[in-house]
Amino acid sequence: MNTYYKKFIKRSEEISFDLNHRKTIQFNMSKYDAAVACGMSRYADIEKAKEHIAAKKRKALQNFDETLLTFEKNAQKNGIHVHWALDTKEALEQIGKIIDEKQAKKIVKMKSMTSEEVEMNEFLEHKKIEVVETDLGEFIVQVAGEKPYHIVTPAMHKSKKDVNELFHRLYDMDENSTAEEMTEFVRQLLRKKFTEADIGITGANFIIADIGGIGTVENEGNGIMSASFPKTHIVLAGIEKVIPSMHDLGTFWPTLAVHGTGQAVTVYNTIYTGARKNGEDFGPEEMHIILLDNKRTELLAEEFQSDSLACIRCGACLNACPVYRNIGGYTYESTYSGPIGSVLAPFYQGFDISGHLSYACTICGKCTEVCPEKIDLHMLLLHNRQKDVEELGNKGFFAFFMTIYQFFSLHSSFFGIGMAKIKNFFAQTFAKNGFGKKRSLPEFKEPFRKQFEKRKKS
Ligand code: SF4
Repeated sequence: MNTYYKKFIKRSEEISFDLNHRKTIQFNMSKYDAAVACGMSRYADIEKAKEHIAAKKRKALQNFDETLLTFEKNAQKNGIHVHWALDTKEALEQIGKIIDEKQAKKIVKMKSMTSEEVEMNEFLEHKKIEVVETDLGEFIVQVAGEKPYHIVTPAMHKSKKDVNELFHRLYDMDENSTAEEMTEFVRQLLRKKFTEADIGITGANFIIADIGGIGTVENEGNGIMSASFPKTHIVLAGIEKVIPSMHDLGTFWPTLAVHGTGQAVTVYNTIYTGARKNGEDFGPEEMHIILLDNKRTELLAEEFQSDSLACIRCGACLNACPVYRNIGGYTYESTYSGPIGSVLAPFYQGFDISGHLSYACTICGKCTEVCPEKIDLHMLLLHNRQKDVEELGNKGFFAFFMTIYQFFSLHSSFFGIGMAKIKNFFAQTFAKNGFGKKRSLPEFKEPFRKQFEKRKKS
């Protein structure tokens, strides 16, 4: 067990027994569960919609390079500057170059997990650029000095009371302000930021190859304002977001919405196909899109785990996961948390840092059941475990121990041999820690076979 794993276990124990955290998460999750059940009831056959978008995404992944090059060609025709970034460093260098060219001092941002992945805010703050998150949940975690807790609802771990206390401390707001009053306060604060910003940065939910544009979804309109008020619009998007055609959005948009929040469609569904054209009154003067690889092509080469690139970041697997619902988003210590995060993180951060996340799974299969992209998440976590053992653990004492364990497992009659005392000694010495401090390891008494025979006789 390395230090990352130990820290994970410690943090999991602490947060699981934090009753305030549990109360807030259960309250917010119960709202999500009710909204999704209502949203799903509008579908005659949700499985058909899932099959459709799953097939479309797999097709894009099979022809990955071709679809991306089609996008690049069409985007350039639209006057968009297309940049390719192999990793975080290249992506930030390119963003830094645009900022320097424009002599930008103020930036507004739409919520984007890809920007979290490259730690963009830290980079911008280091460059002494004022950067403001404009999604309400993201704004709350930014001013609280935190990271997003959840890929769709970044401030899910905060109750209204928590936000009251935060806004009272930072902005001297009345501690009994209503949710509407706090929202209005942020709205007024952000309006000014949108008009002052030199650059707006957004992510992309979809990179649309046939029209050379990007598609975004949001509920507050802050993304549209981030993209259209400042003179320069920069999009940072992971290359796996590519889809072949705009026509596919007809199914992608509602299926993403119903799995993400239970909505029929998200409030604002926007397609951007470049900067302001001749004769148009609104929009940025320049649009850049940075296509980020950051280990995605390495992941694509994996026989099984490559399928995780089909993820559309709806967050449904996080909400369904019994482990996530107990240990929460921060315990994972990775940009993407929950089941999809546990699959991706070891590839993005390394198995030495995040390989243990593959074990934070009961293999109940609920994540796979709810995934709109039909990703076999729990099976991918098993494949990650195998890779983790192959990469890190298959040596020294562990290998010796597993060889003995394998022998006994394949010859189950040996389990009946030996005194309970000896078995208890080995179990208490080697397996007790894995059982957790809050549970006691049961003792061996009599072999199962003997107990069974006795029972049959009686
Ligand atoms: S893996 Fe599936 S359920 Fe989880 S976030 Fe991605 S698309 Fe949604």
